Amino acid sequence: MEKCFFKKMDTKKMIDILSQKATIGFYFHIPFCPHICPYCDFIKTSKFTKKDIIEYFNELKIQLKFFIDNIPEYHNKHITVYFGGGTPGLFEASYYKELFDILNSFFYIEEATLETNPLTNLERRFEDYLNVGFNRITLGAQSLCSNALKILGRKHTPENILNNIKWAKNAGFKNIQVDLIYGLKNGVRTISVKDEIESLYEAGSSGISAYALTIEKRTLFAKTDFANDDIAVQEYYEILSKCKSIGFQQHETSNFSSLDTKHNNIYWYGMPYIGIGTGSHGLLPSTKEYPYGIRYKIGEESEASYAPGNDKLIFSDKNERMKNFSIHYETPRSKQDYISEMIFTLLRTPNGIPLDWLKLYSGNNDILNILLNNSKINRAIHEGKILFSERSISLSPEEKIRGDSWVADFISLI
Ligand code: SF4
Repeated sequence: MEKCFFKKMDTKKMIDILSQKATIGFYFHIPFCPHICPYCDFIKTSKFTKKDIIEYFNELKIQLKFFIDNIPEYHNKHITVYFGGGTPGLFEASYYKELFDILNSFFYIEEATLETNPLTNLERRFEDYLNVGFNRITLGAQSLCSNALKILGRKHTPENILNNIKWAKNAGFKNIQVDLIYGLKNGVRTISVKDEIESLYEAGSSGISAYALTIEKRTLFAKTDFANDDIAVQEYYEILSKCKSIGFQQHETSNFSSLDTKHNNIYWYGMPYIGIGTGSHGLLPSTKEYPYGIRYKIGEESEASYAPGNDKLIFSDKNERMKNFSIHYETPRSKQDYISEMIFTLLRTPNGIPLDWLKLYSGNNDILNILLNNSKINRAIHEGKILFSERSISLSPEEKIRGDSWVADFISLI
């Protein structure tokens, strides 16, 4: 069985760059939130009971075992684990214990991340999280500016954020990644994004994940004008220069950290991942029959999941719960799907697209000349927007914010 991409393309060098052994990830979706943020498009609910939570975690165990049985070639190998949501940090470490027990009996966990919310975290829980097996915390801070937090509908304070970082650090976490939202319209942010990053760094954060605000249809922000593209570009440049000056490396367009981001690497470098729980997605490993793998998602599309604010999932009723855990496989990925998806994610990384891979998948040994002779790409190389080396072709850090617009150009030439 081939593990698409790395094995097939013989670019072991590339995974060496990543300094990780894990070549598959597990994502668990925990859809419970203390309240609904108006910009948020994730699958989640703020209406749930203790019984719903218990039933939900039981279903996670069942689904986890199902997928483990289906990937025997990965047993006893290294994996990454990520609990996202929703707000996984709403729950005590004990909720995660059995899932870790199951995973530990089949795999070596190289990195385990818990997404948390500064509003609901408790100081005493951080040590428990570490003891149960987590070694990385993400904190949904979004901003250290009170006004920005208010507009974003967040109920925590800047002080909560800084306290949370301190608690995680004191408990022994080294990898503390903080989420920031930028690109809010003029006048909303009263502290510069640079100063926010400086304060987070001084408090002990090891990195930031910075996302430009996008207005999604099914959110409560749908009809507002809070996002501004010009400010997003300007703030992205500020983020780049600030992160560089404090030693946060850019691992991907939106990710800056002085430490590893191993689970995210699984997505960015095209490795398979197992999604578990309502609203999650997965990419099954390639097989002889399906050499480019199959994607799937968990949960039926329903009126509830598309209602404005997306706050109507039901877990108390068994039938509804079953629908929310149903597995929906997509058509197996074609070679062209695979190439397009890889170009999309690789252009977001500092390593870019390996030339070996390009030759292999284009089936054309002359692909380099084709790219270099393309006037748009050639001009961008001369302007320093596209970086070209013996091994790879990549976008400069500054150009990454326009990365999506380059994808179509590359795909059309391959
Ligand atoms: S952004 Fe708000 S609503 Fe969305 S998952 Fe996080 S806490 Fe929940």
